[in-house]
Amino acid sequence: MDYKKYIDSVMDFPTKGINFRDITSLLQVGPVYRAAIDEMAEFARSKNAEVVVGPEARGFVIGGPLAYSLGVGFVPVRKPGKLPREVVTVSYEKEYGVDELCIHKDSIKPGQRVLVTDDLLATGGTIDATIRLVKSLGGIVVGVAFLIELKELDGEKLLKDYDVFSLIDY
Ligand code: 5GP
Repeated sequence: MDYKKYIDSVMDFPTKGINFRDITSLLQVGPVYRAAIDEMAEFARSKNAEVVVGPEARGFVIGGPLAYSLGVGFVPVRKPGKLPREVVTVSYEKEYGVDELCIHKDSIKPGQRVLVTDDLLATGGTIDATIRLVKSLGGIVVGVAFLIELKELDGEKLLKDYDVFSLIDY
């Protein structure tokens, strides 16, 4: 499947100089969305993942159907103030300043096999923070899966201890 055909590239979004890879143009074509999830699920299944974890918001659009396909649970990672029960929080560096992500404290059991996923790997800051949350709860990261990886930003340097799958590379 030529997935790139379904990814729109939008220059100068959200700020000047950024070439934004828009996944919504792929999501809106049902058979292509399904094929992409099926390929990612095959990877996740080969890792015997017991739970899927993904950061808001586009990580939900990938992680939800992945978990459904595997028949395992989905755990959301969210910005502060969004999750109603007790959370663990980590900070991570963004291009401008520091941000935080949270996970429900009881969402992963120690030793559980976790597949971490997001729509896109850029610098790796978001997925690294997500992995730190999983590990703080005792989860074992058995694989990390992306729809898209922006190779030139070298986010994989933060993921060298993990088995990484990306469906589409730029
Ligand atoms: P990182 O933390 O790896 O630098 O950035 C990845 C995060 O930012 C992901 O959660 C992703 O949704 C978002 N992101 C950054 N650049 C793009 C882009 O070009 N397209 C899309 N769809 N998301 C992006």
